[in-house]
Amino acid sequence: MISRRMQKMVAANSVIRAMFEEGLKLAREYGKENVYDFSLGNPNVPAPEALKKAALKILSEDDPVKVHGYMPNAGFPTVREKIALSINKRFGTGFTSANILMTVGAAGGLNVALKALLNPGDEVIAFAPFFGEYRNYVANFDGELVVVPPNTETFQPDLRSFKELIHPQTKAVIVNSPNNPTGVVYSEETVKRLAAILDEKQKEFGTSIYLISDEPYRELVYEDAFVPYLTKYYRNTLVGYSYSKSLSIPGERLGYVVVPGEVDDFEQLFQAMTVANRILGFVNAPSLMQLAVAECLEEKTDIAYYARNRETLYTGLTKLGFKLVKPEGAFYLFMKTPVEDDSAFAQAAKKFNILLVPGSAFACPGFVRIAYCVSYETIVNSLPKFAELSKQYGL
Ligand code: PLP
Repeated sequence: MISRRMQKMVAANSVIRAMFEEGLKLAREYGKENVYDFSLGNPNVPAPEALKKAALKILSEDDPVKVHGYMPNAGFPTVREKIALSINKRFGTGFTSANILMTVGAAGGLNVALKALLNPGDEVIAFAPFFGEYRNYVANFDGELVVVPPNTETFQPDLRSFKELIHPQTKAVIVNSPNNPTGVVYSEETVKRLAAILDEKQKEFGTSIYLISDEPYRELVYEDAFVPYLTKYYRNTLVGYSYSKSLSIPGERLGYVVVPGEVDDFEQLFQAMTVANRILGFVNAPSLMQLAVAECLEEKTDIAYYARNRETLYTGLTKLGFKLVKPEGAFYLFMKTPVEDDSAFAQAAKKFNILLVPGSAFACPGFVRIAYCVSYETIVNSLPKFAELSKQYGL
């Protein structure tokens, strides 16, 4: 018999993954070109050629023990140093290799941070809508996820409710900007107010509240939207980064966490996260990818590709009468459903071979997420199908 904890997690298995499986099934039935699969955040832009070249060079020239062997659990010191310098150059920070922990994607980074921080019953706050896996990551370490209700007008966090939900047991707050599922970028004004609230509450309760900034979409912004670097606004900030979307390598599983020297209990925390990396079974982040990515820190994804998809889909859907906030980042649109029941709407869309993820999966019913990291043809060809769907709802 499997554990009670896993019974619960299996029962609440990811809606996104279920949709993705459904998409594969429909593609077999109707042909790939007749299925409009907007379910998964799997980048359609190829990984940079420079990454492939770097990997091949490393494989053919470097010492195989170095490339394929065990290493310090925090990752290659040389790679960590290069990443620290590249962050400093971009954001005017002062990190060194001692502040960078290489992780198995953003997911690995979040799990490592939460394992290092949480005692059973500790609370972690997230702002709806949020990436549904946060619920599992917090539950992995017997924490309690506390959800700040969504502000469905702008999708900036509702800071008034936030303030009321911070308790002496609050150990961490997770923010994600550019946001999955809305594509919204948290403004500097929001970040400053959020930091001031956390400072005030830390003082009031005499506790440390860690702000975990989950940033897999940092590089995916349109019209030069400004994404504040949170360590500059709040002292107890950890930044979780990933190359999954910025270099289109989600299957390679590479990211890092920045742990600034000024966070409370820095030495202990960094050591605990390094041990967590090992004992969660990651041991260390993938070796070849660390070495190859370190050669490609200046590489950028093709943002124009996503920008074109965003423009065409946003304009097309708005013309059809659907209501959406135009996103400034990531590759998601979050669309209001013309009926309250978002799951029923997603089912109705499926009849037109359009696959969408209900907002309930992100703690925000009444919306659906559209992942537009697909081919441009899929976008264009889906619009007549969306038109049929909109007619069904009298839009
Ligand atoms: N956090 C958010 C907000 C995400 O959208 C994702 C993946 O889609 C992750 C974390 C996990 O990313 P990774 O592939 O780097 O583990």
